[in-house]
Amino acid sequence: MGRYTGPACKLCRREGMKLFLKGDRCYMAKCAIEQGKSPPGVHGQRRSKLSDYGVQLREKQKLRRMYGMNEEQFRNFFARSLRGHGVTGEKLLQNLELRLDNLVYRLGFAPSRRAARQFVTHGHINVNNRAGTIPSMILKAGDSVAVKSDEHSRKYSAAFIETAISRGIAGWLSLDKEKFSGSILKIPTREELAPTVNEQLIVELYSK
Ligand code: SF4
Repeated sequence: MGRYTGPACKLCRREGMKLFLKGDRCYMAKCAIEQGKSPPGVHGQRRSKLSDYGVQLREKQKLRRMYGMNEEQFRNFFARSLRGHGVTGEKLLQNLELRLDNLVYRLGFAPSRRAARQFVTHGHINVNNRAGTIPSMILKAGDSVAVKSDEHSRKYSAAFIETAISRGIAGWLSLDKEKFSGSILKIPTREELAPTVNEQLIVELYSK
């Protein structure tokens, strides 16, 4: 199944919460959720009670859409989180946050995850001083992410870095805005990650 390329706000309306898919617009009054728009579709306004499965499914869709992944990619990420030590749900969230495209977004080099993915695939990013062109690459503590030193790449990012700083860079990341470079100080804990998601419901869904 291909990646969703339709209207981003429709996904937020479907989940009934902000998924922050569109950069600055998500912080403005014109955001569809701020305006209280109902879920899409003819029966969008009808609120039926969800089954346990429905609740688990919505939680998974919320997280998957937040990170702009298709079902297969998301399932692979989940499978990866089952390996090794640690709590599966927490590892899933950590792996998602440590994706290269997410880090480019978190460090303010691009306005949204979707834009960050394109910025990475178009070759504007270095990982540990070498070209990093795979958005789904999972980084680790100590790795560095930088915008390439050419004028075109840096001009694009410069427009977003200040905004990201004003909203606050995550405590587990460090950013050197003069060098257009950042690094992962440590693996984030659960408390430092997407608080609006109940990852345990996703684990239950995939354990069926
Ligand atoms: Fe979602 Fe952003 Fe659209 Fe608001 S503006 S509905 S947060 S994508």
